[in-house]
Amino acid sequence: MSAAERPDDAVMAAFRDAPGFMPEHEGLALFRAAVSAAPVGPLIEIGSYCGRSTLLLGAAAARAGTHVVTIDHHRGSEEHQPGWAFHDPSLMDPDLDALDTLPVFRRVIATSGLEEHVVAVVAPAQVVARYWQHPAGMVFIDGSHTEESAQRDYDSWVPHIAVDGILAIHDVYPDPGEGGQAPLHIYQRALAEDRFDELAPTGSLRLLRRRQPA
Ligand code: MG
Repeated sequence: MSAAERPDDAVMAAFRDAPGFMPEHEGLALFRAAVSAAPVGPLIEIGSYCGRSTLLLGAAAARAGTHVVTIDHHRGSEEHQPGWAFHDPSLMDPDLDALDTLPVFRRVIATSGLEEHVVAVVAPAQVVARYWQHPAGMVFIDGSHTEESAQRDYDSWVPHIAVDGILAIHDVYPDPGEGGQAPLHIYQRALAEDRFDELAPTGSLRLLRRRQPA
């Protein structure tokens, strides 16, 4: 893979060290899509968690002189809560007895040298969307995977994707035995809208480019 197709070694090292759920091959596909989307407009990430994918979007944004705006309430999704499969006790704030992924997120981004290209917004994504007015080069949906949240993220953010911009959706599993179906459902919703062209998938990552209106 040529240098143009992957972030520099410092970013890749930070990516590999960062807590999170994005496999490297899917992350690199996301990065390449983001490189093509960043000249169109800023990159929006829904679901920052500890910044693992944010690093790749930040590296793509840096190449185009733009930003990734990454949105998360930083209290974790359902599956991150105590007693659930993806709970990490080290991410608990003991005084509040609540998850807080923001301190780790900040450290991950700081070690990558990408801070000036990463804008972290601490809020539910639909609240931020209410005030957002700028056409986006990419919307990457990787937040809570409940049906209600995934549909709400779609409602809130997909209308902001610019022509030629990319909708990226993580954790799309056609086989229900492999994972929850909400990301698949919003992917199918995007296909049914007939405003997007499908790009090649990688693992559970799906990519769609918004067409010129006919
Ligand atoms: Mg994910």
